[in-house]
Amino acid sequence: MSHSSSATARRSALAELVPFLRRLDWPAERERRLRGLLSFARLRSPHSRDLLGSVDLESFTEAGLPRLPPTSEAEPIHRFDEIVTDPRIPLDVVNEHIENLRSDTYLFGRFRALPTGESSGIREVFVYDWGDWTTFAAMANRWPVRAALAERHADPGTYVSVYADRATHISDTLQDVFTPPAGERGHRLPVTLPVETLVAELNRLQPTELSSYQSTVAVLTAEAIAGSLVIRPARVSTVGELLSEASRELVREAWGIEVTDTWGCTVSVYAFTYTTAQGMHLPEDLATVEPVDASVEPVALGQPASKIYVTNLYNMAQPLIRCEITDSMTVSDEPCPCGSAQRPAFDLRSRLDDVFAHEGGPTLRSLMVLFDALEIDRHVIDFQVHQAPRRADALVVSEGPVDLGAIDAELGRSLDAA
Ligand SMILES: [Zn+2]
Repeated sequence: MSHSSSATARRSALAELVPFLRRLDWPAERERRLRGLLSFARLRSPHSRDLLGSVDLESFTEAGLPRLPPTSEAEPIHRFDEIVTDPRIPLDVVNEHIENLRSDTYLFGRFRALPTGESSGIREVFVYDWGDWTTFAAMANRWPVRAALAERHADPGTYVSVYADRATHISDTLQDVFTPPAGERGHRLPVTLPVETLVAELNRLQPTELSSYQSTVAVLTAEAIAGSLVIRPARVSTVGELLSEASRELVREAWGIEVTDTWGCTVSVYAFTYTTAQGMHLPEDLATVEPVDASVEPVALGQPASKIYVTNLYNMAQPLIRCEITDSMTVSDEPCPCGSAQRPAFDLRSRLDDVFAHEGGPTLRSLMVLFDALEIDRHVIDFQVHQAPRRADALVVSEGPVDLGAIDAELGRSLDAA
């Protein structure tokens, strides 16, 4: 099938789907999923059995969620073995898998395991069964796919991503799910490449679509404006860090387009900008989001929340019920003007962004690279990285023997690259 006829086929398949989507009752569908999750969790997870006790799940609705105790940021890792629904995946086994992970490999051929400290600085571990991980990847890909389809280019173009090249990092791992084989259309460049090499590779590949961390895109726009990077991407997407208004403007200046910014966390949600800087769609069909204030009282829609509780409605291996995410946002009380049934959120801010925004300080190309170096060791349970004039100081809290020399060396390598 040629590119243009396959694009036509995709569009007509989508057109047929629209009436079905309009008939879907999303709140009812979400509650059906919620009851399914809670019932399964109570049956198979010792933690959920305690948590849910004798709650009547047959008639359970979202309105009942605030009466369930929340899951603190540290709980998924501290109570890992009681939370998971499969006795084959205690934390020891999952950690050993992570430590030996060098490629796109599933634990027991089915479980995707990821360490992360993305929102809290606490080392967390998430595990997804194969089908649920595919759902996660589909969620993380659907808005970019929608954008690509909307542009109706007959030529799919060249996609280049610049992320951590570690099998344990979500930005790398997600690309193993749907990306075409290397060399066909998608190319991955490690974010740790020296800037000159990165620029040379991008000049050679001529991406029509570029995806990377916000900080890396900022570096690349500077190279484009200086004239060393000569590419014409039709789409640029960012994830992992805070996108500043200045970086947004640099993308406009360099390539004359609006950047698609993404906010995501491994607990279950990826949200995407839909027009400009204004808002991101929350995946309301796959997760419930409860905005709360600093004293964890519910916040009305349309009001700023200091954090949210997220319930992942599709991860059956590790039920994540009312998980605390310490990013602030305002969940809209209005449906999105674009017509999507997914509610938008505004003013998303990660707590980490406050910690690491150092005006006039030295530029780190990517904090994610540093976090990666700290997340690998299973005994590191919490960490902080402090930016100093000519170095980074890392504090780690450990729960067992930690090879500090190895971490130091890894951090040094990452800093050199960052
Ligand atoms: Zn919208």
